[in-house]
Amino acid sequence: MRHLLRFAATVSVVMLLAPTGGCGHKSRPAAPPRVKNVILMVGDGMGLAQVSALMLAGEYRPVNLERATTGGFVKTHSADNRVTDSAAAGTAYATGHKTRNGYLGVDPDGNPLETIIDRAERAGLSTGLVATVEIQHATPGAFYGHSRQRYDYESVSLDLLTSGVDVAIAGGRRYLTDRKDGRDLVAELRAQGYFMTDSLAGLDGVTSGPAMALCEDALPFVSEGRDPEYLTRATAKALGILTANTPRTEGGFFLMVEGSLIDYAGHDKNTEALIGEMRDFDAAVGVAFDYADAHPGTLVVVLADHETGGLTIPAGKEDFTLPDSGVEFRWSTGGHTASMVPMFAYGAQAGLVGGVFDNTEVNRLLTQLLGVE
Ligand SMILES: [Zn+2]
Repeated sequence: MRHLLRFAATVSVVMLLAPTGGCGHKSRPAAPPRVKNVILMVGDGMGLAQVSALMLAGEYRPVNLERATTGGFVKTHSADNRVTDSAAAGTAYATGHKTRNGYLGVDPDGNPLETIIDRAERAGLSTGLVATVEIQHATPGAFYGHSRQRYDYESVSLDLLTSGVDVAIAGGRRYLTDRKDGRDLVAELRAQGYFMTDSLAGLDGVTSGPAMALCEDALPFVSEGRDPEYLTRATAKALGILTANTPRTEGGFFLMVEGSLIDYAGHDKNTEALIGEMRDFDAAVGVAFDYADAHPGTLVVVLADHETGGLTIPAGKEDFTLPDSGVEFRWSTGGHTASMVPMFAYGAQAGLVGGVFDNTEVNRLLTQLLGVE
């Protein structure tokens, strides 16, 4: 609710340029149903093989993702590349518009795009962001930031001041305090009423927002010593704060949770790191699904922004009719791929999240369901 007029000029232009309809194969009810809360969970770089690797690592004991009642696939290409980066993909989920790789929350010409968090805030909903990378990094950054240069973290940090975000748990504090312009954004956010701390543990005892727990940098892999349930605990904490911030009479919330380092594991071709990140992400999914069970009207959508690493899991021996052929984890690239990514849904109106979606269509469905389209 802090930025009523910020997009007044740009929105009308964007609406004129926006394709009308454009996705005719999704037939939607004339009077669309609504949900109270949306939890969007992004496994950055999480393709089907990454999900399969999690299942294999647990000897096929059921994982939380299997609790999903419906799902589908997402097409991930960006405006200028068949292989997207996380900035363009995050922008598609956050705004419903494709943009160029490297662009964050702006259209291909560089004009700011309204995000689902902007819309939710204006409608009086609460909002939150949780990630294991810097809060300015592509996926979380796309939900409040606007820049032609995704790595200009000092500039993206300024957009936090006007985001209205009620809870943020991630890294990237250094870009708020160690700045070329000399400003101390931690102090400025405190002056706005935020509780600011530099660790998840710093939120112990904090039960309502606005609050941010930003550690100095991105978090390390679980395989390098991170709390193996960091994302799980952060998700639970954010949900607690958002629930306290959301009186029944004022509608619900939008929360984005990113399992950010699944992508880093792919870039590093590091299977051990991948498993640790997937386990934490899946446990966080379990927290979100449990929340949906306990809070009717909550929709949880779990998806990826793209696949990273070109991971395949062939049999260890070419003759896989043999017993004990084992499997191998083969990474075919240190970059991203053009593969479609899986999508899972659970909770209120989960039945609408089935089929093949363009990444921009996911945004349109979620904004419609929240009543902030
Ligand atoms: Zn990546």
